[in-house]
Amino acid sequence: MTKCLICKSDFSPFINFGDMPIANAFSKKEELNDEYTFPMKVGFCSNCKMVQLVEQPDRERMFHDNYAFYSSTSKYMKDHFKLFSDSVSKLQHLDSNSFVVEIGCNDGIMLQNFISSNIPCLGIEPSENVASVATKKGLEVITEFFDQPLAKKILKSHQKADVILSANVMCHIPYMHSIFDGIKTLLKEDGIFIFEDPYLGEIIEKTSFDQIYDEHVFLFSALSINNLSQMHELELINVESQVTHGGSMRYTIAHKGAKKVSKNVFKLINQEKKLKLDEEQSYLSFTDKVNKIRDDLIKLLNELKNDRKKVVAYGATSKSTTVNNYFKITPDLVECIYDTTPIKQNKFSPGAHIPVLPYDQFRESDPDYVLLFAWNHATEIMKKEKDFMSTNRHWITYIPNVNIS
Ligand SMILES: [Zn+2]
Repeated sequence: MTKCLICKSDFSPFINFGDMPIANAFSKKEELNDEYTFPMKVGFCSNCKMVQLVEQPDRERMFHDNYAFYSSTSKYMKDHFKLFSDSVSKLQHLDSNSFVVEIGCNDGIMLQNFISSNIPCLGIEPSENVASVATKKGLEVITEFFDQPLAKKILKSHQKADVILSANVMCHIPYMHSIFDGIKTLLKEDGIFIFEDPYLGEIIEKTSFDQIYDEHVFLFSALSINNLSQMHELELINVESQVTHGGSMRYTIAHKGAKKVSKNVFKLINQEKKLKLDEEQSYLSFTDKVNKIRDDLIKLLNELKNDRKKVVAYGATSKSTTVNNYFKITPDLVECIYDTTPIKQNKFSPGAHIPVLPYDQFRESDPDYVLLFAWNHATEIMKKEKDFMSTNRHWITYIPNVNIS
């Protein structure tokens, strides 16, 4: 039994992924012998409804100075954050007297939109290499982890925030109570805290187990966020689903009683109860489904190997680390992974040590089958590669089940 990070109740894991490396730790050949792993297990707390990693990996290993994920490399995400910031500006009537704070601003992909509208803002980003890109865009950035003490420190030099934002960051942070205390401290009386993260309901419905990796300490639902907000005299006032990252949810939180609670909140909580996200049994069936995907995919890859087919993968995503290591996919099953991110190229994938090659070499490699790790961008990618793939080549996808197209 383990203690819940939110309410301290005892709970047990419903899935054990085994020893897992850091999802973004793409290594050079000489670094392969020195790989860090942690036991990755996930559990559901039936008291506060939070789904969470049972053991925490060493955070210093995750968000270090060579952190490989730059948000702005994706045009799709750039557009998404432009729309996000525009809608927030309109909703809260932001102007040059307002103040916006973003927790985990990465390379400034979101805040650059506020700068260009002359809305004062502040980024918080512990990874120095991505933070320095944000600084070059003219952003003020504090390179620390956000928590209650930092919120108090910010108040000494800045005003309270009209809006606090965060995208794909909250679920990374184990000490959620200090974050919510910090929000309570830093937020104006009529301010709002908006964040989005991969949504538990989508993960359970699609069996998208690969959303689970070291960085994702929590898988949030309206049920768990509602409970957590109440513990801090805050209130969940709106929820809006997003298509990003294979299905995300945007949660809006305000001081308790300060704003009207949207009917979306009640609707989603009811839906979650219908999906039985508040019952342990749902998570045990999820595990059965994941293991079925594993067995089907490994069987297929072995058959293709025996038939001497060339199988490569597309997109050295963080998600692929969970797939490769839990399924035990090795370079004899998948020859290499093609990726457009320079920092990952000519390195080896975490744990499975599959070579990562520059995307430019993908077409000349002349594959028979392409395993699509970046399945959340399937529509965009399949459209881009349509002509190339049409000549006797096939995509392999595995969410929500193994499929050849
Ligand atoms: Zn709990």
